[in-house]
Amino acid sequence: MARIIAIANQKGGVGKTTSAINLASSLAVLEYKTLLVDADPQANSTTGLGFDLRNIQQSLYDCMVNDVQPRDVILESDTPNLKVLPSHIDLVGAELELINHPNRERVMKQVIDAVKDEYDFVIVDCSPSLGLITVNALVASHSVIIPVQCEFFALEGLGKLLNTIKIVQSRLNTDLEIEGILMTMYDGRLRLSNQVVDEVKQHFEESVFNTIIHRNTKLGEAPSFGKSVIMYDAMSTGAINYLNLAKEILQKHNFTKINQEDKILAINDDQSE
Ligand code: ADP
Ligand code: MG
Repeated sequence: MARIIAIANQKGGVGKTTSAINLASSLAVLEYKTLLVDADPQANSTTGLGFDLRNIQQSLYDCMVNDVQPRDVILESDTPNLKVLPSHIDLVGAELELINHPNRERVMKQVIDAVKDEYDFVIVDCSPSLGLITVNALVASHSVIIPVQCEFFALEGLGKLLNTIKIVQSRLNTDLEIEGILMTMYDGRLRLSNQVVDEVKQHFEESVFNTIIHRNTKLGEAPSFGKSVIMYDAMSTGAINYLNLAKEILQKHNFTKINQEDKILAINDDQSE
């Protein structure tokens, strides 16, 4: 059975999609069968992996609103072991269309549960909102990764997100865990980056991943080539960071395929760009 992990933060531009694409691709490269669910109507995870929205006939929206089977919607990616349940701008409408659904918070869970046995991991990329679709993602998941950008006001809005997670935990999904807080766009040359990491670690202690995602131009370039960073430039800091994140998660949950040479690679601050 798959471990289902949502990537959520209602702030835009903190690295949710970059983390979803590259964590999913890293797990796939490490030979874990992975499904990336694009739960953002902007469909950046879908296009970032090279899919042309004009060729996509059906999406997560059709699974959630029109009872289409996810198996008929899921696409093969260019990366072995990685499949994608694509998004579409229609998903915006799902929030309204599900309003009167008797189980409106559990619709995505039903979609994912129908295919979860075919995967080791399901990664859900959320939209920058705490609306019904994001709540659906949190209800469908075992855990949530919260990307936090190393910048001023990094903690702003986190209280609201943690509160939403608490409400979901108490009413809808008692098993939901925080997989970890992921520091993104870290620049070791900036005192600010280090201050933000220290501050977040003080607040959240061991909930913060050891792996920190550095600012790296390859991470920004890769989606315009329709590729994950590991397929675009496997030696880049971004590729190494996300592989390490995948390995940290695998080690935490005692996944056994990981072997000695796959151990987490050290990375120096001065490699950040
Ligand atoms: P979100 O999904 O939270 O809105 P994105 O993952 O789309 O955020 O990231 C916002 C922008 O920042 C994108 O242009 C992305 O390419 C860029 N970006 C994200 N992470 C990094 C990073 N570690 N280094 C450099 N650019 C990054
Ligand atoms: Mg996004």
